[in-house]
Amino acid sequence: MQKVPFDKLIWEKRNGYVLPASMDCVCGFCNTLACLQTKYSSKDDQLESIFMTGRCIHCGETSKIWIFPFKTEQQWKDNNRECECWIYPKAEIRNYKFTETDINSERIMRAYREAIDTFNAGKPISSINSCGRVVEGIAKTNFPNIGNTNQIGKLFTKLKSESEKLPEEFSNLLSPLSSLGEALRIGRNTAGHFDFEKEPDKNLASKILDLTEFLMQYVYTLDGEADKVEKLILELVPQEP
Ligand SMILES: [Zn+2]
Repeated sequence: MQKVPFDKLIWEKRNGYVLPASMDCVCGFCNTLACLQTKYSSKDDQLESIFMTGRCIHCGETSKIWIFPFKTEQQWKDNNRECECWIYPKAEIRNYKFTETDINSERIMRAYREAIDTFNAGKPISSINSCGRVVEGIAKTNFPNIGNTNQIGKLFTKLKSESEKLPEEFSNLLSPLSSLGEALRIGRNTAGHFDFEKEPDKNLASKILDLTEFLMQYVYTLDGEADKVEKLILELVPQEP
């Protein structure tokens, strides 16, 4: 469920109550900012809530809407208008978790913004590709000893196997990090993604974005933690053949 901000609702009087006639929100079916036209469905006096449906004018699908507490015309007139509007299903829109202030590299920030923007635009492959560039950028900037892209790929593979041998606190820390190797692998294979058994989808893109943000948080926003991770990573850096 997602909450629809009050100012996105257009209200109207209906049978003694004041209800949203339409609302502008990101539709949970097509993930597009669209207008939903509402229809009254039922009322629960005990919970003081009204259940409605909303049809997206973009894709035609119908979302479920709850208003609580409901407001009568009289309450509305008395300026007693505080209520919440919730909608289901929830749209999968991601917001930027970092700003330019957090990330001191313009290139990494640009790739990160592309990863979020393409995810929200429903382009999971482009999003994964951008995540791969973020990870590669971070690895090259922060761990220069790692060297070229192939070495970074090897590092992640090595991290994965090594993390299984480490004490639990370290393996927990490194395990999500090591999964980022997947982002690089898929990112580099974008042009030939037909090689995959299954098309990379939104779920995979969402997971890789989570991991990319996890890495960014560690490296850029948690002071000290990055040093710990860097030390661990440097110990595992594969040697150039
Ligand atoms: Zn829609």
